[in-house]
Amino acid sequence: MGDVHHFTLPRDFIIGNGVLKQVGRVFVNYWRPDKTKVLVVTGPRIYRLLFDNLAESLGKSGFNVEVYKAEKATVSIAEDLEDIARRGGFDVIVGFGGGKSIDLAKYASKNLQADFVSIPTAASHDGITSPFASLKGFNKPISVRAKVPTLILLDAEIISKAPSRLNRAGMGDILGKWSAVLDWRLAHKLRNEYYGEYAASLALLSFKHVVSNGREIATWRPDGVRILLEALVSSGVAMCIAGSSRPASGSEHLFSHALDMVAKRPALHGEQVALGSIMMLYIHGKNWRRVRTVMKTVGLPTTAHELGVSDVEILEALTIAHKIRPERYTILGEKGLTWEAAEKIARVTGVIS
Ligand SMILES: [Zn+2]
Repeated sequence: MGDVHHFTLPRDFIIGNGVLKQVGRVFVNYWRPDKTKVLVVTGPRIYRLLFDNLAESLGKSGFNVEVYKAEKATVSIAEDLEDIARRGGFDVIVGFGGGKSIDLAKYASKNLQADFVSIPTAASHDGITSPFASLKGFNKPISVRAKVPTLILLDAEIISKAPSRLNRAGMGDILGKWSAVLDWRLAHKLRNEYYGEYAASLALLSFKHVVSNGREIATWRPDGVRILLEALVSSGVAMCIAGSSRPASGSEHLFSHALDMVAKRPALHGEQVALGSIMMLYIHGKNWRRVRTVMKTVGLPTTAHELGVSDVEILEALTIAHKIRPERYTILGEKGLTWEAAEKIARVTGVIS
């Protein structure tokens, strides 16, 4: 293929209030109800709270719906799901719930002819709009390429009722895009790595969008949540266009993945990413205080203590982060941080005291 760059985008995004009630009507624009088998992947909590609403909407439009319930997002569960979907001849796999259900459905449909539809019930990270999935059971805790969603349906009303910690984490994931883009530019300059200005601008736009609307988002009312959802869409599309998670994931994500490995009780992905980003922005020489102020406004943890991890775990994660994904060049370089440097960075940014 040489220099040819091929990317796939979702066909439709539907954002607003009451979207869940319209799922059936949206589906008939894409699939024939009498010829389409739909498999909905969800967790036990969302099954109890919201599955009937989704099934009713699809049923009214004549779709035959079956459900696959999963509590965890592991590679083996995704493979089981893929097997069931293949043998059952399903045409559409819907991820319905938090990040786990979306990731399972997205990964399981990767090698199938079936279309994948993302209907998140929380805005916990940009995986709800991206073609990458993060599952437990791979060698390393990084996200892997899965399937681009055909449709992404985002019901701001439903998502505004999700546990606020989950939505805050989604905001944290977006706050990490500034350092991610800075790392990408650095890799381009130092390593001649492919860099796409358009994709990078889209990821940065999502960052700026949540920074300038922090207060409105922090009401966690549907209008505020909608702003966050737009940012998550922008970040997901940036990854589709780049053909990798590069525009959305740099040293702050490496730090979060490292913390997942070393912490006894890791926090949520987006919480860790935001905390990592203030330290990485400090190394980049950027205005990390501005990001920390936004984190405080929306109630994201800004210290190890608030995150629920120890100071030592933060330092361990900082010093091993560069090893998580050596091909992803970042400000951490090839050798990473020394213990002393890590300690200084974490202290200056107020992450440890
Ligand atoms: Zn992320």
